[in-house]
Amino acid sequence: MILDTNTLMLVDETSDAVRTPPLNRRLSALKTRTTQFSPLSLISLLYALNLFIFYQQEFISDASFLCGSAFVLCTVIFFYGLFKLGANKRFEDPTLMLPQLCATVSIMLLMAYIDRATQPALVPFILIAFSFGIFRLSTRSLVLMSAACVSAYLGIILMHADQAEQISLLRHDFMQWCVLALTLPGMIVVGKQIQNLRQLLRLTRYQLAHFEEKATRDELTGLYNRRQLQDELERARAHARASSTPFCICLIDIDHFKKINDGSGHLTGDTMLREFARVARNSIRDTDILGRYGGDEFMQILPDTDLKGAVMHAERLRVQAHFLDFQALLPQKHISLSIGIAQYRDGESLLDLIARADAALYRAKQLGRNRVEWAEAA
Ligand code: GH3
Ligand code: MG
Repeated sequence: MILDTNTLMLVDETSDAVRTPPLNRRLSALKTRTTQFSPLSLISLLYALNLFIFYQQEFISDASFLCGSAFVLCTVIFFYGLFKLGANKRFEDPTLMLPQLCATVSIMLLMAYIDRATQPALVPFILIAFSFGIFRLSTRSLVLMSAACVSAYLGIILMHADQAEQISLLRHDFMQWCVLALTLPGMIVVGKQIQNLRQLLRLTRYQLAHFEEKATRDELTGLYNRRQLQDELERARAHARASSTPFCICLIDIDHFKKINDGSGHLTGDTMLREFARVARNSIRDTDILGRYGGDEFMQILPDTDLKGAVMHAERLRVQAHFLDFQALLPQKHISLSIGIAQYRDGESLLDLIARADAALYRAKQLGRNRVEWAEAA
């Protein structure tokens, strides 16, 4: 294991990556999900169902119903195919909200043109369709879309006016148009406010996750900090009590770290702490917990492990650390570790447990450093 300048760069990046896995997980959970069957397709199908009811009640002709259903089915199948083939990913907005909204609204307007009896369904369905676009489209797109929609609907009413035999029908159509023309802008305003609130909520959740992460991690090494170690110790003790299994702690201290700081500078000392943390983190089992207890002292919690097992793990870490090559940084090339171990005794306080591990560490220092010492299990 050679430590050169490139490795140091990697160390930084690695420790950052390892430092924030829960945050990354939370962030990726916030990413937009695109489903193969969009809600707008569902709205189109509901619209087709509505046409079917109109047809059943003999409001519209079978030709109108078949025509409307065919438009809806073709559109739904077309977009489903795009999503299934992944072709949507080539677009800037992979949800294809704008084209889907255009297609859905166009079908409804076209049906209103073909058969004016479909008009009672037009305004509510257009409003529902727009409600989906509000959360994804820009204000500009929404305003343009709604202006086009309202104008097209007015055009359709005026085209029907040529054939209108009854003035009351025309007035009725115009009333519907007024409802659409007045509710659409209101809906866009409310929708945008909801969108802003959602963004604020997302930002707050991100910040919360970030602060939670910071509160549990040591800034320099990315390992758990002392406060989190305390929580983890309590968890390990609760687990040991519940499952009647042993657990151990190791206090790990770098030997003569002050000399490194004094001889090579504080920044080199920091780099070494980070590198040691990286190696130690990679060498422990997934179930073990590693944290920075303070300064150049680290704590490893080993659940479901007796003293013998903990000594074995500690020896392995000590040897591994000893063979780290710090030639690029330090005159003495190698570092060594002293490790004190204690196994939890039933009923003892966590303070007592730590004190026994600390006493073992002290003994390791007294006996010449670069060694593992332990407190008797009982
Ligand atoms: P021993 O073998 O007895 O452990 O000797 P030591 O020199 O390692 O003594 P000790 O463990 O008491 O020294 C810890 C040193 O670690 C003292 C302090 O200057 C240094 N230190 C503490 N925190 C940091 C840090 O964040 N960065 C750096 N570079 N040094 C730190
Ligand atoms: Mg030390």
